[in-house]
Amino acid sequence: MKKVTGISSKYLGKPLIWIGWQVNKHCPFQCHYCEEFTWGDKNPANFTWEVYERMADKLIDKYKYGHMEFTGGEPLTFPYLDQLISKFYDAGWTIGILTNLGKRKEAYKHWIGKVDYVCASYHANVINTDKKRDAWFEKLDNMGTYIPMICRIILDPKHWDHVLNVFHTLRTDNLLLLEPVRLLAFHNVFSNDKDLADTHYTLEQNKIIDTLEARIGHVTGTILPSEIKLTYDDGTTETNEGLEAFNSISVLSRSRQNNFKGWSCDIGINSLWVGGDGQISKGGCHSFDQKFIGDIDKLNEVQWPTESTICPYDLCYCDLDVVISKRKI
Ligand code: SF4
Ligand code: SF4
Repeated sequence: MKKVTGISSKYLGKPLIWIGWQVNKHCPFQCHYCEEFTWGDKNPANFTWEVYERMADKLIDKYKYGHMEFTGGEPLTFPYLDQLISKFYDAGWTIGILTNLGKRKEAYKHWIGKVDYVCASYHANVINTDKKRDAWFEKLDNMGTYIPMICRIILDPKHWDHVLNVFHTLRTDNLLLLEPVRLLAFHNVFSNDKDLADTHYTLEQNKIIDTLEARIGHVTGTILPSEIKLTYDDGTTETNEGLEAFNSISVLSRSRQNNFKGWSCDIGINSLWVGGDGQISKGGCHSFDQKFIGDIDKLNEVQWPTESTICPYDLCYCDLDVVISKRKI
Protein backbone atom coordinates (compact mmCIF):
# COMPACT_ATOMS: atom_id res chain seq x y z
CA MET A 1 0.00 0.00 0.00
CA LYS A 2 1.33 3.44 -0.89
CA LYS A 3 2.12 5.68 2.04
CA VAL A 4 1.36 9.33 2.64
CA THR A 5 4.46 11.54 2.74
CA GLY A 6 2.85 14.96 2.92
CA ILE A 7 -0.34 16.78 3.95
CA SER A 8 -0.97 20.31 2.71
CA SER A 9 -4.13 22.06 3.98
CA LYS A 10 -5.57 25.28 2.59
CA TYR A 11 -8.49 27.58 3.24
CA LEU A 12 -9.44 29.79 0.31
CA GLY A 13 -5.94 29.51 -1.17
CA LYS A 14 -4.11 30.38 2.07
CA PRO A 15 -2.55 27.99 4.60
CA LEU A 16 -5.24 26.59 6.87
CA ILE A 17 -4.95 28.01 10.38
CA TRP A 18 -6.87 26.08 12.99
CA ILE A 19 -6.99 27.13 16.64
CA GLY A 20 -8.60 24.88 19.24
CA TRP A 21 -9.77 26.70 22.37
CA GLN A 22 -10.86 24.49 25.22
CA VAL A 23 -12.73 27.15 27.14
CA ASN A 24 -13.17 25.01 30.23
CA LYS A 25 -12.72 21.54 31.68
CA HIS A 26 -16.16 21.35 33.15
CA CYS A 27 -18.78 18.94 31.81
CA PRO A 28 -21.82 17.49 33.54
CA PHE A 29 -21.83 14.36 31.35
CA GLN A 30 -18.76 12.57 32.77
CA CYS A 31 -18.69 9.86 30.11
CA HIS A 32 -17.02 6.60 31.15
CA TYR A 33 -14.43 6.88 28.35
CA CYS A 34 -13.56 10.53 29.00
CA GLU A 35 -10.64 11.32 31.28
CA GLU A 36 -11.30 13.36 34.41
CA PHE A 37 -8.71 15.88 33.24
CA THR A 38 -11.18 16.78 30.48
CA TRP A 39 -14.26 17.33 32.65
CA GLY A 40 -13.19 17.31 36.31
CA ASP A 41 -12.90 21.07 36.92
CA LYS A 42 -15.71 22.39 39.12
CA ASN A 43 -15.37 25.89 37.62
CA PRO A 44 -17.13 26.64 34.33
CA ALA A 45 -14.52 29.45 33.90
CA ASN A 46 -11.11 29.84 35.51
CA PHE A 47 -10.36 33.46 34.59
CA THR A 48 -12.13 36.79 34.29
CA TRP A 49 -13.59 38.00 30.99
CA GLU A 50 -10.68 40.49 30.69
CA VAL A 51 -8.16 37.61 30.52
CA TYR A 52 -10.14 35.80 27.83
CA GLU A 53 -10.65 39.03 25.91
CA ARG A 54 -6.92 39.84 25.91
CA MET A 55 -6.18 36.32 24.65
CA ALA A 56 -8.75 36.65 21.86
CA ASP A 57 -7.28 40.02 20.82
CA LYS A 58 -3.79 38.51 20.79
CA LEU A 59 -4.85 35.59 18.58
CA ILE A 60 -6.68 37.87 16.17
CA ASP A 61 -3.65 40.18 15.96
CA LYS A 62 -1.10 37.40 15.65
CA TYR A 63 -2.74 35.00 13.20
CA LYS A 64 -4.80 37.63 11.25
CA TYR A 65 -7.28 35.05 9.96
CA GLY A 66 -8.20 31.48 10.74
CA HIS A 67 -10.67 29.00 12.05
CA MET A 68 -11.57 28.99 15.74
CA GLU A 69 -13.02 25.84 17.23
CA PHE A 70 -14.38 26.13 20.75
CA THR A 71 -14.55 23.01 22.85
CA GLY A 72 -14.46 21.91 26.52
CA GLY A 73 -15.42 20.20 28.85
CA GLU A 74 -18.75 21.44 27.66
CA PRO A 75 -18.41 24.95 26.19
CA LEU A 76 -22.10 25.69 26.73
CA THR A 77 -21.37 25.85 30.49
CA PHE A 78 -18.71 28.55 29.90
CA PRO A 79 -20.18 31.98 30.75
CA TYR A 80 -18.28 34.01 28.12
CA LEU A 81 -18.83 31.84 25.04
CA ASP A 82 -21.19 34.26 23.28
CA GLN A 83 -18.73 37.12 23.83
CA LEU A 84 -15.81 35.13 22.39
CA ILE A 85 -17.90 34.06 19.39
CA SER A 86 -18.79 37.70 18.70
CA LYS A 87 -15.14 38.76 18.87
CA PHE A 88 -13.93 36.21 16.35
CA TYR A 89 -16.98 36.69 14.14
CA ASP A 90 -16.38 40.47 14.05
CA ALA A 91 -12.73 39.80 13.11
CA GLY A 92 -13.86 37.70 10.13
CA TRP A 93 -12.84 34.28 11.46
CA THR A 94 -14.73 31.10 10.76
CA ILE A 95 -16.08 29.48 13.93
CA GLY A 96 -17.08 25.98 15.00
CA ILE A 97 -18.39 24.73 18.35
CA LEU A 98 -18.06 21.22 19.76
CA THR A 99 -20.85 20.38 22.18
CA ASN A 100 -22.65 17.42 23.69
CA LEU A 101 -25.93 19.18 22.82
CA GLY A 102 -27.00 18.87 26.43
CA LYS A 103 -28.52 22.36 26.67
CA ARG A 104 -31.97 23.40 25.54
CA LYS A 105 -31.94 24.27 21.86
CA GLU A 106 -32.73 27.93 22.64
CA ALA A 107 -29.20 28.24 24.09
CA TYR A 108 -27.76 27.78 20.61
CA LYS A 109 -29.97 30.33 18.87
CA HIS A 110 -27.71 33.31 19.70
CA TRP A 111 -25.19 31.98 17.24
CA ILE A 112 -27.32 31.84 14.11
CA GLY A 113 -25.36 33.44 11.28
CA LYS A 114 -22.19 33.70 13.39
CA VAL A 115 -20.93 30.14 13.66
CA ASP A 116 -20.08 28.04 10.63
CA TYR A 117 -21.09 24.81 12.31
CA VAL A 118 -22.06 23.21 15.57
CA CYS A 119 -20.51 19.79 15.98
CA ALA A 120 -22.72 17.68 18.25
CA SER A 121 -21.22 14.57 19.83
CA TYR A 122 -23.63 11.74 20.56
CA HIS A 123 -22.80 10.04 23.88
CA ALA A 124 -24.99 6.96 24.19
CA ASN A 125 -23.81 6.31 27.77
CA VAL A 126 -25.48 9.52 28.99
CA ILE A 127 -28.27 9.83 26.43
CA ASN A 128 -29.34 6.41 27.59
CA THR A 129 -33.13 6.01 27.42
CA ASP A 130 -35.41 5.89 24.39
CA LYS A 131 -37.04 9.11 25.52
CA LYS A 132 -33.75 10.98 25.93
CA ARG A 133 -32.46 9.61 22.65
CA ASP A 134 -35.55 10.59 20.67
CA ALA A 135 -35.38 14.09 22.13
CA TRP A 136 -31.64 14.39 21.35
CA PHE A 137 -32.04 13.35 17.70
CA GLU A 138 -35.07 15.58 17.27
CA LYS A 139 -33.08 18.54 18.61
CA LEU A 140 -30.19 17.77 16.25
CA ASP A 141 -32.52 17.50 13.26
CA ASN A 142 -34.41 20.65 14.17
CA MET A 143 -31.29 22.74 14.81
CA GLY A 144 -30.03 21.67 11.38
CA THR A 145 -32.76 23.82 9.85
CA TYR A 146 -31.12 27.01 11.16
CA ILE A 147 -27.45 26.21 12.04
CA PRO A 148 -25.12 23.97 9.98
CA MET A 149 -24.82 20.84 12.11
CA ILE A 150 -22.22 18.08 12.18
CA CYS A 151 -22.95 14.97 14.22
CA ARG A 152 -20.21 12.76 15.62
CA ILE A 153 -21.31 9.34 16.77
CA ILE A 154 -18.99 8.31 19.59
CA LEU A 155 -18.52 4.58 19.05
CA ASP A 156 -19.09 3.51 22.63
CA PRO A 157 -18.22 -0.21 22.96
CA LYS A 158 -20.72 -0.54 25.84
CA HIS A 159 -23.54 0.50 23.48
CA TRP A 160 -22.03 -1.07 20.39
CA ASP A 161 -25.08 -2.31 18.47
CA HIS A 162 -26.99 0.86 19.24
CA VAL A 163 -24.28 3.30 18.10
CA LEU A 164 -23.62 1.33 14.91
CA ASN A 165 -27.33 1.32 14.15
CA VAL A 166 -27.56 5.06 14.79
CA PHE A 167 -24.57 5.70 12.58
CA HIS A 168 -26.01 3.70 9.68
CA THR A 169 -29.62 4.89 9.91
CA LEU A 170 -29.63 8.47 11.25
CA ARG A 171 -31.43 10.93 8.99
CA THR A 172 -28.87 13.27 7.41
CA ASP A 173 -31.27 15.63 5.59
CA ASN A 174 -30.44 18.50 7.96
CA LEU A 175 -26.77 17.65 8.57
CA LEU A 176 -23.53 18.73 6.97
CA LEU A 177 -21.81 15.53 8.01
CA LEU A 178 -22.24 12.43 10.15
CA GLU A 179 -18.96 11.05 11.45
CA PRO A 180 -18.08 7.83 13.28
CA VAL A 181 -15.57 8.46 16.08
CA ARG A 182 -13.15 5.84 17.34
CA LEU A 183 -12.41 6.23 21.06
CA LEU A 184 -8.80 6.38 22.09
CA ALA A 185 -7.33 5.25 25.39
CA PHE A 186 -5.58 8.53 26.10
CA HIS A 187 -3.19 7.16 28.68
CA ASN A 188 -1.79 4.91 25.92
CA VAL A 189 -1.65 7.54 23.18
CA PHE A 190 2.07 8.14 23.62
CA SER A 191 3.06 4.56 24.40
CA ASN A 192 5.57 2.76 22.20
CA ASP A 193 2.90 0.56 20.68
CA LYS A 194 0.42 2.95 19.11
CA ASP A 195 -2.09 0.13 18.52
CA LEU A 196 -2.67 0.14 22.29
CA ALA A 197 -4.37 3.50 21.91
CA ASP A 198 -7.62 1.83 20.79
CA THR A 199 -7.82 -0.82 23.52
CA HIS A 200 -11.45 0.18 24.13
CA TYR A 201 -12.44 -2.30 21.42
CA THR A 202 -12.28 -5.98 20.57
CA LEU A 203 -10.36 -6.94 17.45
CA GLU A 204 -13.64 -7.47 15.63
CA GLN A 205 -14.98 -4.07 16.64
CA ASN A 206 -11.77 -2.40 15.56
CA LYS A 207 -12.00 -4.04 12.15
CA ILE A 208 -15.56 -2.78 11.75
CA ILE A 209 -14.46 0.76 12.65
CA ASP A 210 -11.68 0.53 10.04
CA THR A 211 -14.35 0.13 7.35
CA LEU A 212 -16.74 2.92 8.44
CA GLU A 213 -16.89 6.01 6.28
CA ALA A 214 -18.40 9.35 7.22
CA ARG A 215 -21.82 10.06 5.70
CA ILE A 216 -22.05 13.39 3.95
CA GLY A 217 -25.37 15.12 4.68
CA HIS A 218 -27.66 17.21 2.53
CA VAL A 219 -26.85 20.64 3.93
CA THR A 220 -24.24 22.91 2.37
CA GLY A 221 -22.18 25.39 4.36
CA THR A 222 -18.71 26.78 4.94
CA ILE A 223 -16.26 24.07 4.10
CA LEU A 224 -13.11 23.75 6.20
CA PRO A 225 -10.48 23.21 5.04
CA SER A 226 -11.33 24.11 1.46
CA GLU A 227 -8.55 21.95 0.02
CA ILE A 228 -6.21 19.17 1.20
CA LYS A 229 -3.45 17.74 -0.94
CA LEU A 230 -2.00 14.39 0.07
CA THR A 231 1.39 13.40 -1.38
CA TYR A 232 2.39 9.71 -1.55
CA ASP A 233 5.69 7.86 -1.54
CA ASP A 234 5.23 6.79 -5.19
CA GLY A 235 5.22 10.45 -6.23
CA THR A 236 1.46 10.65 -6.84
CA THR A 237 -0.81 13.23 -5.22
CA GLU A 238 -4.50 13.40 -4.36
CA THR A 239 -6.33 16.67 -3.85
CA ASN A 240 -9.75 16.82 -2.21
CA GLU A 241 -12.00 19.76 -1.63
CA GLY A 242 -14.65 20.56 0.94
CA LEU A 243 -16.01 17.81 3.15
CA GLU A 244 -14.11 15.21 1.13
CA ALA A 245 -10.94 17.06 2.14
CA PHE A 246 -11.59 16.76 5.87
CA ASN A 247 -12.80 13.24 5.33
CA SER A 248 -9.45 12.33 3.74
CA ILE A 249 -7.85 13.32 7.06
CA SER A 250 -10.30 11.27 9.13
CA VAL A 251 -9.62 8.29 6.90
CA LEU A 252 -5.89 8.56 7.67
CA SER A 253 -6.67 8.39 11.40
CA ARG A 254 -9.24 5.62 11.13
CA SER A 255 -6.96 3.48 8.94
CA ARG A 256 -4.06 4.12 11.34
CA GLN A 257 -1.88 5.99 8.89
CA ASN A 258 -1.33 8.69 11.49
CA ASN A 259 2.25 8.08 12.57
CA PHE A 260 4.27 11.12 11.49
CA LYS A 261 7.24 10.75 13.81
CA GLY A 262 10.25 12.64 12.42
CA TRP A 263 8.14 14.72 9.99
CA SER A 264 8.29 18.49 9.85
CA CYS A 265 4.91 19.68 11.16
CA ASP A 266 3.45 23.20 11.11
CA ILE A 267 1.70 22.99 14.49
CA GLY A 268 2.17 26.18 16.44
CA ILE A 269 2.72 28.08 13.19
CA ASN A 270 -0.67 27.21 11.69
CA SER A 271 -2.37 25.98 14.85
CA LEU A 272 -2.61 26.46 18.58
CA TRP A 273 -4.32 24.78 21.50
CA VAL A 274 -5.59 26.81 24.42
CA GLY A 275 -6.39 24.57 27.38
CA GLY A 276 -9.26 24.93 29.84
CA ASP A 277 -6.76 25.73 32.59
CA GLY A 278 -5.26 28.54 30.48
CA GLN A 279 -2.14 26.70 29.37
CA ILE A 280 -1.18 27.28 25.74
CA SER A 281 0.48 24.70 23.52
CA LYS A 282 1.23 24.30 19.83
CA GLY A 283 -1.47 21.66 19.34
CA GLY A 284 -3.43 18.88 21.00
CA CYS A 285 -0.47 16.49 21.04
CA HIS A 286 1.80 18.93 22.88
CA SER A 287 -0.94 19.77 25.34
CA PHE A 288 -1.48 16.12 26.21
CA ASP A 289 2.28 15.71 26.60
CA GLN A 290 2.31 18.81 28.87
CA LYS A 291 4.62 20.80 26.60
CA PHE A 292 3.33 24.31 27.10
CA ILE A 293 4.50 27.62 25.64
CA GLY A 294 2.76 29.87 28.15
CA ASP A 295 -0.47 30.84 29.89
CA ILE A 296 -3.34 33.07 28.86
CA ASP A 297 -3.00 35.25 31.95
CA LYS A 298 0.72 35.88 31.28
CA LEU A 299 0.70 36.74 27.60
CA ASN A 300 3.98 38.68 27.78
CA GLU A 301 5.82 35.48 28.68
CA VAL A 302 4.42 33.22 25.94
CA GLN A 303 7.10 31.62 23.76
CA TRP A 304 5.33 31.96 20.41
CA PRO A 305 6.55 29.32 17.92
CA THR A 306 8.57 30.65 15.00
CA GLU A 307 9.40 27.47 13.11
CA SER A 308 8.01 24.05 12.24
CA THR A 309 8.25 21.19 14.75
CA ILE A 310 9.92 17.84 14.20
CA CYS A 311 7.22 15.42 15.33
CA PRO A 312 8.39 13.37 18.34
CA TYR A 313 5.28 11.16 18.62
CA ASP A 314 4.24 7.71 17.38
CA LEU A 315 0.62 8.70 16.99
CA CYS A 316 -1.05 11.89 15.79
CA TYR A 317 -4.23 11.10 17.67
CA CYS A 318 -6.49 14.09 17.00
CA ASP A 319 -7.83 14.91 13.53
CA LEU A 320 -7.42 18.60 14.33
CA ASP A 321 -3.67 17.92 14.66
CA VAL A 322 -3.54 15.62 11.63
CA VAL A 323 -5.13 18.32 9.44
CA ILE A 324 -2.25 20.77 10.01
CA SER A 325 0.23 20.76 7.10
CA LYS A 326 3.19 18.46 7.56
CA ARG A 327 5.68 16.65 5.41
CA LYS A 328 8.12 13.74 5.68
CA ILE A 329 11.76 14.90 5.71
S1 SF4 B 1 -19.54 14.98 26.84
FE1 SF4 B 1 -17.45 15.08 26.02
S2 SF4 B 1 -16.27 16.32 27.52
FE2 SF4 B 1 -18.21 15.69 28.50
S3 SF4 B 1 -17.63 13.85 29.65
FE3 SF4 B 1 -18.46 13.20 27.64
S4 SF4 B 1 -16.65 13.00 26.29
FE4 SF4 B 1 -16.03 14.18 28.11
S1 SF4 C 1 1.54 14.43 16.72
FE1 SF4 C 1 1.73 16.67 16.85
S2 SF4 C 1 3.80 17.11 16.13
FE2 SF4 C 1 3.27 15.06 15.46
S3 SF4 C 1 2.43 15.29 13.40
FE3 SF4 C 1 0.72 15.32 14.83
S4 SF4 C 1 0.41 17.49 15.24
FE4 SF4 C 1 2.43 17.30 14.36
